[in-house]
Amino acid sequence: MRLATYTWQDSDRVGVVEGDEIVDVSEAAPSMQALIAGGDAALERVRAAAGRGSRQKLEQVRLRAPLPRPAKNVFCLGLNYKEHAAEGARSRGVELRLPEYPVWFTKAPTSVCGPYDDIAVDAQLSTRNDWEVELAFVIGRPARRVPKERVYDYIHSYTVFNDFSLRDIQNQRGGQYFLGKSLEGGSPLGPWLVTRDEVPDPQRLRVVCRVNGTVKQDANTSDMIFDIPSMVADITRVLTLEPGDVIATGTPSGVGFARTPPEFLKPGDVLETEIESLGLLRNRIVAD
Ligand code: ZN
Repeated sequence: MRLATYTWQDSDRVGVVEGDEIVDVSEAAPSMQALIAGGDAALERVRAAAGRGSRQKLEQVRLRAPLPRPAKNVFCLGLNYKEHAAEGARSRGVELRLPEYPVWFTKAPTSVCGPYDDIAVDAQLSTRNDWEVELAFVIGRPARRVPKERVYDYIHSYTVFNDFSLRDIQNQRGGQYFLGKSLEGGSPLGPWLVTRDEVPDPQRLRVVCRVNGTVKQDANTSDMIFDIPSMVADITRVLTLEPGDVIATGTPSGVGFARTPPEFLKPGDVLETEIESLGLLRNRIVAD
C-alpha cells in the first residue's frame, strides 16, 4: 500500500493512494504514527477501510510529509556511496578514506517538509544550499540488537527523502553535521510511504535528483557501502529503533558542493527528488 498524510478541510488525514486517487482511511488510522505503531493489525484495518472510504483526486488535496512531524530526529548515514565519498575528498583536496563503520548523524524533526512544499532559503544564513537524494525507510516495531538476517522484519515502509544541507554551516561546527542539516522545513519527505511488501528489493532502486530539469544525481541503491541490514544491525547494537523512526540511507555522487564549479540552490530553482517505483518530490526554492 501507498500511505499518505494529507490535509483536507483544515485537518490532517491518513489516506491510501490508488492510482491518481486518495482514499480516506482516517476512521482506521487517526495518524500515520498511530498506524505504524499499530503494526500488522492496523495495516489490515486500513486495507479494509480503503474499500469503503471516500475518494478524491490526489490533485485536489495537499499532501504533507507522510510523518509530518517525526517523533524524533531523522537518523542519517553520511558517506554511504563510494563515489560521493570520493567527490567530497576531491573537493577538499584530501585523500579518499572510505568509512570503516556507518557514519551516523541526525536532523531535527522540524527540518522535514512535505513533498511539494516550497523550501525557504535565507542568503544571510547560507549561500551553500545543497541537495541529496536518499532512499529512506521507516521502522515498524521496536528494534534492538537485530541480526542482519532479520532486519527486514522490522521495516514498515520506504519513501523518498532529500537530505537538504547548508554546506557552510555543516562544515563550520567541529565536524558535527547536525545544524547544517536541520534547516527549518528544508528537507522534503514523501510523497507517501510504500509498505515493505511492495518493495521486493530496496537495494536495487534508481535514485535521481534534478535541478530545473537537469539531472544532477543518478545512481542506484545497489551502490551503497553499508546496506540496510548492515546499518540497522549496527545502530541497534547501541540503541532501540522505534516505530515511526525514519532512517535516511545516504546520498550518491553529484551533490552541488563537489561539482566543478560548485553549484548551489537559489530562489526560483525547482528541486526534484525521485526514486524508482517509490515516487517523486518536487519543491520550489523561495527566498525566506
Ligand atoms: Zn545525506
